[in-house]
Amino acid sequence: MTNHPKYLNEPIETMNSDELREKVQQPKFLKQIKYVLSNSPFYRKKFKDAGLELGDITGLRDLSRIPFTVKDEIRESQAKFPLLGEHMACGWEKVRRIYSSSGTTGRPAFMGLTHHDLVNVWLEIASRARYCGGYGSGDRVVLTVNIGPFAAGSELTAFEKIGCTTVPLPPGNTDRVITAIQLGANGLLATPSYVQYLITWCSQSGIDPASLGLRKITVSGEPGGSIPAIREKMQSAFNAFVTETAGLADIAMSIWGECVHQCGMHLCAQEFALVELIDPTTGRSIELQEGITGELVYTAIDRECTPVVRFRSRDHVQMWTSKCECGRTSPRIRIIGRTDDMLIIQGVNVFPSAIKAVVGDFKPRTTGELEIQLAEPGPAAKAPLPIKIEYSSQIGDLENLKSELESALREKLVFRAQVQLVPEGTLPRYEYKGKLIRKLYEEKQP
Ligand SMILES: [Zn+2]
Repeated sequence: MTNHPKYLNEPIETMNSDELREKVQQPKFLKQIKYVLSNSPFYRKKFKDAGLELGDITGLRDLSRIPFTVKDEIRESQAKFPLLGEHMACGWEKVRRIYSSSGTTGRPAFMGLTHHDLVNVWLEIASRARYCGGYGSGDRVVLTVNIGPFAAGSELTAFEKIGCTTVPLPPGNTDRVITAIQLGANGLLATPSYVQYLITWCSQSGIDPASLGLRKITVSGEPGGSIPAIREKMQSAFNAFVTETAGLADIAMSIWGECVHQCGMHLCAQEFALVELIDPTTGRSIELQEGITGELVYTAIDRECTPVVRFRSRDHVQMWTSKCECGRTSPRIRIIGRTDDMLIIQGVNVFPSAIKAVVGDFKPRTTGELEIQLAEPGPAAKAPLPIKIEYSSQIGDLENLKSELESALREKLVFRAQVQLVPEGTLPRYEYKGKLIRKLYEEKQP
């Protein structure tokens, strides 16, 4: 790994979590709530509807009294008050950049940033996440816009701020990505689907990925990096070190960054955002403790333009709160899946990415590719759940494989599957984000 100091901001990154909460997060939270209520008609109305006044919020213990904010409310507000909606809390003269989130579950939503939001908050968070992942002076990093529009903005600047050289490349240009790596880039930021696509591309072009000299890969955009079989495939093919990063434009991109100990992504926005976990079905808060799972809820505590308070991310995660070997005290997570993708099969919550992890354990007998066949809109799905799984062309005993896969899914994820084995290369490969569910029904247009 790069030889550089361990932390970008040691006092904050190693501060005891109770001290951080009391001395740093609580005063910033109170200041932010005051700011939001003074400047955002959206939150003034939300607090009023909940019977809350500024004086009712006296500390972090009152956070759970504030109602959640969901993405649809922001979209509705933006439709009525274009472009940023009524939760915009600053004048237009202060807005420097606007991002939009992908509209996979509806119309896109827009997020605005002031100079302070961009430079003092986002850039600081992203730089901390990249530094935590072992990047620093002397690294040359390829970023493809496949990772999303954010690669061109704060991510690029974050790598540069900590001393890396960046090589931003347009999407759909794998030739150029490989050439850049051959010419001396040692780092890559991409989606796990794209990294796997590169492995296939290299083998079809007669190139050994391990010979390219890529040593650090950071993946984002989908849960692949947290699936052991996929991570191992990427690491061994490139002989590289894989870390993960994640975030959301409503709070900050790269709010989570994995350190070189590879035991989940650290929160890298210690003094900029609060995180909570809730039960997605009841909305009840869950106490943060080692190994717990739930949906992430965020509150910005240092955001000028479009701040959100108790924002439901729909990201379902597992969290660890123990101190990491790297010395950082912030909680670590792995993303299990989107709450929206969660299936409920005979009362059991099942995430498509968890199915992918089980199927991945059967490599090289399977290719690891699968497609859940969903007959009706979820989250409720009937058992047995039909799943197409690709077998590898190298194996012969299909009958045993099918029953072994079905029993592994039953044992590990507690649901019944009906596996249909299909030949290698049958299921689609994705250059950006993989899709694990095929909807066999007509979707209503939003
Ligand atoms: Zn760590």
